[in-house]
Amino acid sequence: RLVTKDDVIRLAEENNVGFIRLQFTDIMGVPKNVSITREQLGKALDGELMFDGSSIEGFARIEESDMYLKPDPNTFMIFPWTLGEEMSIGRLICDVYNPDNTPFVGCPRYALKRALNRAAEHGFSMNVGPEAEFFLFLKDEEGKPTLKTHDRAGYFDLAPVDLGENARREMVLTLQKMGFEVEASHHEVAPGQHEIDFKYDEALNTADKIVTFRSVVRIIAQKHGLHATFMPKPIYGIAGSGMHLHISLFKEGQNAFYNPNTPDQLSQTALHFIAGILHHAKALTAITNPTVNSYKRLVPGYEAPVYIAWSYRNRSPLVRIPARRGIGTRMELRNPDPSCNPYLALAVILRAGLDGIEKRMDPPETVNQNIYEMDLEAREKAGIESLPGTLREALIELSNDEVIQDALGPHIFSRFMYAKRVEWEDYRGRVHEWEIEEYLAKF
Ligand code: ADP
Ligand code: MG
Ligand code: MG
Ligand code: MG
Ligand code: MG
Repeated sequence: RLVTKDDVIRLAEENNVGFIRLQFTDIMGVPKNVSITREQLGKALDGELMFDGSSIEGFARIEESDMYLKPDPNTFMIFPWTLGEEMSIGRLICDVYNPDNTPFVGCPRYALKRALNRAAEHGFSMNVGPEAEFFLFLKDEEGKPTLKTHDRAGYFDLAPVDLGENARREMVLTLQKMGFEVEASHHEVAPGQHEIDFKYDEALNTADKIVTFRSVVRIIAQKHGLHATFMPKPIYGIAGSGMHLHISLFKEGQNAFYNPNTPDQLSQTALHFIAGILHHAKALTAITNPTVNSYKRLVPGYEAPVYIAWSYRNRSPLVRIPARRGIGTRMELRNPDPSCNPYLALAVILRAGLDGIEKRMDPPETVNQNIYEMDLEAREKAGIESLPGTLREALIELSNDEVIQDALGPHIFSRFMYAKRVEWEDYRGRVHEWEIEEYLAKF
């Protein structure tokens, strides 16, 4: 299963790869890349290619400008849509290193690796399966994305084929060619909204796959004249886009969340992990739901969670335990949205859960009724707290949680806080449509 340097070079030659993109993500999870020719591939795979980090906005300061990219040969892929062209294009996902050959602390992939190493010290590996939702919107005459969906009732209803369905089918086929095991793909509740689920994998692979997934979805949408967006809540009043994460820990090839001898067949490890997630939920939300818009999705009345609770059946709480047991025993975390940086999201989730294991935390009672139907008093009696209601609240929670900060490391933490405070202040100063509707005539 492990791919070597020689394998990559051979595959690149066999498939007439002309250029290779060396990819990494910035703190916000935005993919960056440095393009090289096939001739430079050997040198790149030896980790000898330098790039100027300060040339990439928000990535590094001037004094950190010389960086090395160390490609992970296991992540080599050829973009299927470039095969058969004069030259095809490949990619490698990289770790970012300092000139002294130490990992760069601003590299999100390294933050996840650190958290995974901590889990490995306890003998655990982490498996994650995402359910990413997105909207496909039509573009206007100038090619700018609109909020019109191809399949809104009456809009395109005479069209012989559904543009969105066709685009999604090609997305699935492309992902399969790239080695994704797509388990489900369907229309979502809102018009124009879609979901594609792929099989769980080890956390680092899943984070890499989420980054790849988002760019494949965008590229294929483009080919169909559509705009794909992972913005969490593009339209008020209809469901937003989430990215539920299914999570389990494995130990020695066995699912460490499973214990056939307890009433609910969950292990002590699972209970501690869940307790840790609930304990750190408010702070980790700053990372799993990192935009101003993320909090427009986390409102009552949809399938998105608002309350910090867990349940076996109900889909309103933050954590749901799907019925599957044995190897498929897992928890589903329902707040993350697809605008997050998957490396950082998985790093903080894992550290939250490990903290529960390390401190032997016990989770509260499960809540098996619809929390949206409970009033404030009933919630207070049951000790059910809410997730942060805004990005600002989430940032305050993050600034009070040392475990989650430690998962990010001081470098990423301080830059994340700074960038997000600027984002919040910019938003806060704007006059919104709602205010005009509410106040213009009244005062
Ligand atoms: P939902 O009921 O919320 O729609 P699904 O049943 O569609 O969820 O499952 C979604 C994800 O769960 C898939 O990505 C699947 O691969 C993943 N999954 C299955 N078993 C495990 C496991 N042991 N650990 C982590 N994820 C898992
Ligand atoms: Mg699903
Ligand atoms: Mg399902
Ligand atoms: Mg869904
Ligand atoms: Mg789900």
